[in-house]
Amino acid sequence: MRLDGLKRKLMCLGLACSVGAMAQGNPNALPALGDGLEMSTGAERQLGDRIVRELYRSTAYMDDAILGDYVEGIWLRLMAAARLRGELRPEMDEQYAWAVLLGRDRSVNAFALPGGYMGVHLGLIASVDDADELASVLAHELSHITQRHIARMVSRQGQQAPWMIAAMILGILAASSSPDAAGALIVGGQAAAVQGQLNFSRDMEREADRVGYGVMTQAGFNGQGFASMFEKLLQANRHNDTGAFPYLRSHPLTTERIADMQARQQLQATTAPVGDGDSAMAHAMLAARARVLADASVDSLRAALAQAQEIGSLAASQLSARQAGLMYAGAWAAGELRDPAAAQKLWERLQALVTAHPQAAYQLRLLGAELALSAGDGSRALALLEPPASRSAAPIGDLAKMPRAQQLLRARALTLSGKEGAARAAQALQIWLAERPRDAQAWQLLSDACAAQGQTLRAVRAEAEAYAARLDYAAARDRYAAAQDLIRRGAAGNDHIEASIVDARSKQVDALLREQMRER
Ligand SMILES: [Zn+2]
Repeated sequence: MRLDGLKRKLMCLGLACSVGAMAQGNPNALPALGDGLEMSTGAERQLGDRIVRELYRSTAYMDDAILGDYVEGIWLRLMAAARLRGELRPEMDEQYAWAVLLGRDRSVNAFALPGGYMGVHLGLIASVDDADELASVLAHELSHITQRHIARMVSRQGQQAPWMIAAMILGILAASSSPDAAGALIVGGQAAAVQGQLNFSRDMEREADRVGYGVMTQAGFNGQGFASMFEKLLQANRHNDTGAFPYLRSHPLTTERIADMQARQQLQATTAPVGDGDSAMAHAMLAARARVLADASVDSLRAALAQAQEIGSLAASQLSARQAGLMYAGAWAAGELRDPAAAQKLWERLQALVTAHPQAAYQLRLLGAELALSAGDGSRALALLEPPASRSAAPIGDLAKMPRAQQLLRARALTLSGKEGAARAAQALQIWLAERPRDAQAWQLLSDACAAQGQTLRAVRAEAEAYAARLDYAAARDRYAAAQDLIRRGAAGNDHIEASIVDARSKQVDALLREQMRER
């Protein structure tokens, strides 16, 4: 069953935040932990891995490091607060993946998956007014994870095999994605029918609100964001309530949840911190980025460019966050439309206006580097990514602390600049990957940097690791087989260390693949 656009926009807050059959009972009497109802954190992680390895393969999945840094920055602050409050317990820290996946999709959606995975549609980032609203949705979903709601929901499917549960969840995700998403996540029939089986209860929704609100305010976000996000959902609900979609018929925006929300707001009203102009501007740019990335059709790109070009001349003091967003989107769109002159012109105009806003200026530098890279100008990109003061003397160790987007763009720029640059890129990426071995994009860039230096064996191994990082062990094994073939033919020179790593890792990947096959 396909769902039409307006209703789909409401498929919000949770992989199945509509109300299930088990909504009866005392609102404060959720089953306690350790009552045998929930699966272990390890089993939950396995189930999550099974689901995300399908998502990673979908064309709707995208690893945009700039938006990824933004969402992950909020996510990490929320996790730290949840840890402080004792909601996020050590075994969850250890067992769960704590990874955020972005979906190229205009619909407003975020969903917590088993095993600490979190999915966010670009439509959500594009539609929130500030980081506080985004934090409110993420905090609600984080609380579904920390309160073990997912484990309990899955445990209710007691007789179902894990692969069946994974298929059901994938089917629901498919039904909640836009038909115009770049390839719906997976084709799942009867998603609406199984949705009822995988719902969170009303009580779980209220608990996720209560715990999520505490976590987000403790993390320093403005509690007002929770209320304004709620208001957005209510409005959407009011305008589109045709009763045809279960989410609207039995949606968790119950009168109890609304009343809870209002009571919280009255308590919080006087203590809310106020956002500053810089972060509002940076947010507007990133929301605009999400909007153009979610719909990169030529018509939309042209419209974004035209809208930006219509903005007349401005003094820095006249620039609103909204205009900054439009100009950012216009410059990005011009780059995609292969119109570097228009991109550069908009970029320079905006650059002159944001000098007093460090966060916005940082986002603009990254955009400038992207535009330079797509025009093949590695040295211009590098100049934007490495401000003169830090270029020469920065100790290599500090590279690991660089934000991911900057790190990855820098690696691309260095690799473009020739063999010596490629060697520096490879060195930086190896340091980065030592701490983040699941960063598939970094492995792929390492592969490119090695290939640019003529190090074929290393390039092939890094490519194998890029597949392994996305849990695609079959493809990883193929690349490792190619690496072993290179070694046998003597094509890899005398790189004995690399050869022994290839040998050890390919055995490990073989074992992981066998395990994956057994699960199936
Ligand atoms: Zn929920």
